[in-house]
Amino acid sequence: MSVVFESGLCVACGRCAAVCPGTLIRAGKGERASILYPEDCWGCASCLKACPNRAVKLSLPPALGGLGGLLSCAGEGGRLVWRLERPGQDPLDFPGWPEGEGGY
Ligand code: SF4
Ligand code: SF4
Repeated sequence: MSVVFESGLCVACGRCAAVCPGTLIRAGKGERASILYPEDCWGCASCLKACPNRAVKLSLPPALGGLGGLLSCAGEGGRLVWRLERPGQDPLDFPGWPEGEGGY
């Protein structure tokens, strides 16, 4: 598992790098996010929840999202809304925990 970044959406705020428990991300101070050690990512999703702009996406194993499946999330009305994107299909949104709960 690893994350991918949509650089066009990244505002270089550095929040993803600040919350990654493995210090795997480089971002902030005007630098857009990138993953330094993708093989060490264990898919905790903390960086997804910290990103204000859905610029971080978790690359899912085929059994979960099909080939090329991506998961992202954003806060809406005080609740996290997860989004599953699969090639050739419409995005699928589903509600998660209230913001600030269920995280690391
Ligand atoms: S999913 Fe977790 S371990 Fe992987 S890069 Fe994001 S915060 Fe770090
Ligand atoms: S939290 Fe999102 S917008 Fe901020 S640096 Fe990370 S990827 Fe970019």
